[in-house]
Amino acid sequence: MPLIHTATLITVASLLPFYLFLRPIGEIAVPDEQSLAPYYVVQEGDTLWDISLRFGVLAEDLQSLNEISDPNLLNQGTQLLIPGLNGVSGRVATVNVPVGESLQSFSRQFHLPTEQLAQINQLVSPGQLFAGRSLVVPVESVDNQLLERTRLAAGQSHLELAVKLRTNPWRLIQSNSLPGSWGALPGEMLVLPEGKRFFVDPIVQTIKTINLEPLNPIQGKTTSILVSAPPDLVLRGSLAGYEFNFFPYQDGYVALQGIHAMTLPGLFLLRMEIESPSGEKHAISQPVLVRSGNYPFDPPLLVDAATMDPNVTIPEDELWASLALPVSPEKKWQGLFESPVPVYLKDCWTSLFGSRRSYNGSPYNFYHGGLDFCGTSGTPLYASADGEVVFTDFLIVRGGVTVLDHGWGVFTAYAHQSEILVQVGDQVEVGQIIGLGGDTGRSTGPHLHWEVWVGGVPVDPVDWLNNIFP
Ligand SMILES: [Zn+2]
Repeated sequence: MPLIHTATLITVASLLPFYLFLRPIGEIAVPDEQSLAPYYVVQEGDTLWDISLRFGVLAEDLQSLNEISDPNLLNQGTQLLIPGLNGVSGRVATVNVPVGESLQSFSRQFHLPTEQLAQINQLVSPGQLFAGRSLVVPVESVDNQLLERTRLAAGQSHLELAVKLRTNPWRLIQSNSLPGSWGALPGEMLVLPEGKRFFVDPIVQTIKTINLEPLNPIQGKTTSILVSAPPDLVLRGSLAGYEFNFFPYQDGYVALQGIHAMTLPGLFLLRMEIESPSGEKHAISQPVLVRSGNYPFDPPLLVDAATMDPNVTIPEDELWASLALPVSPEKKWQGLFESPVPVYLKDCWTSLFGSRRSYNGSPYNFYHGGLDFCGTSGTPLYASADGEVVFTDFLIVRGGVTVLDHGWGVFTAYAHQSEILVQVGDQVEVGQIIGLGGDTGRSTGPHLHWEVWVGGVPVDPVDWLNNIFP
């Protein structure tokens, strides 16, 4: 049978262009027992709750079907029957969908027809295969997907690929369950029989991974977009309307982006555009789930009515937001951010970021854009990281404020100060005293209102005290 050039066979395919692999969640090898009903083997650290979330079933249903008397006592190795899974039998597991996978690439990877994968997971449209989603797969197929994969270039035949890979073309066809040498489409991800890695698309062959951390961004939190790729590419990307700012990092690039605390949770399109040194462009997009931050509701607050006047608040909010828009290319912070207050106050928080707020009897359509620390008038305030002073003033709502630029679109801000001890243009070091605490502006008592902005969006400052970004 002659080998046919696949360039003549382009039909529809989701040409998602880079090498990725999946990790089965908590899978360890245990002896299999054949059973008709689909079942899951409990792994170390599993709870009934997270098993139910991953399989999209009610924890109560799992509990009653499996006659579990105490859901807190779940033994590792226990076989749990999973209700409501049609089209699959035997042992099942779940995998998280990474950025860049399609139903076709999963089908190839797990040796399952797309229809069956869609049926098991009740997928009625490709858009439901968003990054970070939990996908149910038979365990047998999880073992198959640990093989490495590659893509067929436009115009490249299996024979050419096989020669390059020094493998047998028929093994390539066999290990991908192709109906014949015509069965794969250009750009499609293929499993390599000998576990070799090979990239064939001229632009995207160099992109190893695109990762979001966390994979499901959370409203009000910082998301890192990490791309493993050579340094000569131009990357652009956006999510939920935010344009990423990429900087060289480790073996590729990173962008840091805040998701607004009031963004409604749901699916948003992640778009990436990759431009080669010669100007060739390749674009991909995939839905990503933005999750709720589960922010609490603060008790109703009573404040000076003058600080609620829209003629005052709107211009001040606009000025405030504009301060955090510039993206300076030098990253000035190192490691964790430090507490902006003396050590004895560092854990004394009177209001958390993101909490929903009502002022003077208003509906709860305000939220708290910073972290409030206890303090008195005169409490010394410290720069949380190295940076440049880009704004100081006494504002009606925020009182005495200082804004520091730490580079890469990351800013910190310090509000309600009684005294400001730095000037615009000053370079400050982490731990340097920059002002004194107070209760100026819209404040119900002396405290520090501390903000962190990332990519033009206020984010939960606590994350920057506990996690090193990127
Ligand atoms: Zn505050």
